[in-house]
Amino acid sequence: MAEIKLTINGQEVRVKNGMTVLQSAQNAGIYIPTLCYAPDLEPYGGCRLCVVEIEKMRGLPTACTTPANEGMIVHTETPAVNQVRRSAVQLLIAEHPMDCLSCVKNQRCDLQQVAAYLGITEREFPRTNREFPVDTSNPFFNLDRNYCILCAQCVRACDEICGVNAIDLSFRGYATKVATFNDGLMIDSNCESCGECVAHCPVAALTPKDARQPTREVETTCPYCGVGCGIYLGMRDGQVITVRGNTESPVNKGHLCVKGRFGVTEFINHPDRLTTPLIRRDGKLVEATWDEALDLVAGRLANYKGDEVARLIWIRCK
Ligand code: SF4
Ligand code: SF4
Ligand code: SF4
Repeated sequence: MAEIKLTINGQEVRVKNGMTVLQSAQNAGIYIPTLCYAPDLEPYGGCRLCVVEIEKMRGLPTACTTPANEGMIVHTETPAVNQVRRSAVQLLIAEHPMDCLSCVKNQRCDLQQVAAYLGITEREFPRTNREFPVDTSNPFFNLDRNYCILCAQCVRACDEICGVNAIDLSFRGYATKVATFNDGLMIDSNCESCGECVAHCPVAALTPKDARQPTREVETTCPYCGVGCGIYLGMRDGQVITVRGNTESPVNKGHLCVKGRFGVTEFINHPDRLTTPLIRRDGKLVEATWDEALDLVAGRLANYKGDEVARLIWIRCK
């Protein structure tokens, strides 16, 4: 694809034709705050945080929806741009609990990061009295709309990635909220519990029921089915506690189904899981080493030929 050249904050940037202004800035290591942008979702332009000034262009366009053009001159940090960003964040935090210290998303939250970047330390507008009950009906995650910033990443992920459309932004104006069809509980909807919405939520509105954070991650392949999705297993205290999709994996590009995202931790840690081979001795299954088990199997198989032998293979026979 042909390259184009533009200037961002006085820096010459060369990018592939077809990229947006936001992608061009990110490519050049220039930070533009966003809350509704995700690289695996269609541009949305909803949060208005990525507004920029572009010479010879009217107004303040959103960088995520504006294609980069040859010769474009972009400014990402003007007073007008930052005034719009600050107003947008102030409107969000007027409706927000702002209890960061006790929040499960503390230090992993995009709203917190953007507020810090803009130097916002307190509410400018009085706190609104909007209050929603928390939907804890899904077995794997909670939906707490009190933290929701209406970025629609969850809705778009459910539509564009999963094709399920279990949720949408429903109602109008101040009453707008993430809702299932007929505004029922998550568990009564057509949600498949894949957690793609949870993975995309930039704040603490959609969070896994187990909110523990791993101390290290191990790159591997999901063992649940034969598709072979790339994952990172999150470890803590010698246990696997989280699964995260590997965005570099050509198989799944970071996306996972319910079994990979939530089932793996459950079956790996299940007390009934076999962790050593068992050999039947005197009518009882007793634990054995792998060498003992393999020697026994090899010895017995040596007595059979050709189609006298059949193999039973299943994705979790290991
Ligand atoms: S969601 Fe983010 S900004 Fe809101 S309370 Fe939690 S950490 Fe703070
Ligand atoms: S868990 Fe998956 S199917 Fe359910 S709402 Fe979220 S993205 Fe949609
Ligand atoms: S639940 Fe999360 S991802 Fe969905 S609209 Fe609210 S803040 Fe955005």
